[in-house]
Amino acid sequence: MPIKVDEESCIGCGVCQSLCPDVFEIGADMKAHVKDGADENAPCVDEAISSCPTGSISK
Ligand code: SF4
Repeated sequence: MPIKVDEESCIGCGVCQSLCPDVFEIGADMKAHVKDGADENAPCVDEAISSCPTGSISK
């Protein structure tokens, strides 16, 4: 399953990017995005999902 970020609820806090910088980046829109070619099975993805304060990441 591809990782999805709910751009409605994402507050751009940067926690996902800090925990998993190879997968997530904060865009110019101050929302998290999944990077092109990111390893969606990287272990840090699960950490980002559980650490996102708004529950905006799913897979
Ligand atoms: Fe958005 Fe959640 Fe990432 Fe924060 S941790 S930037 S709220 S997706």
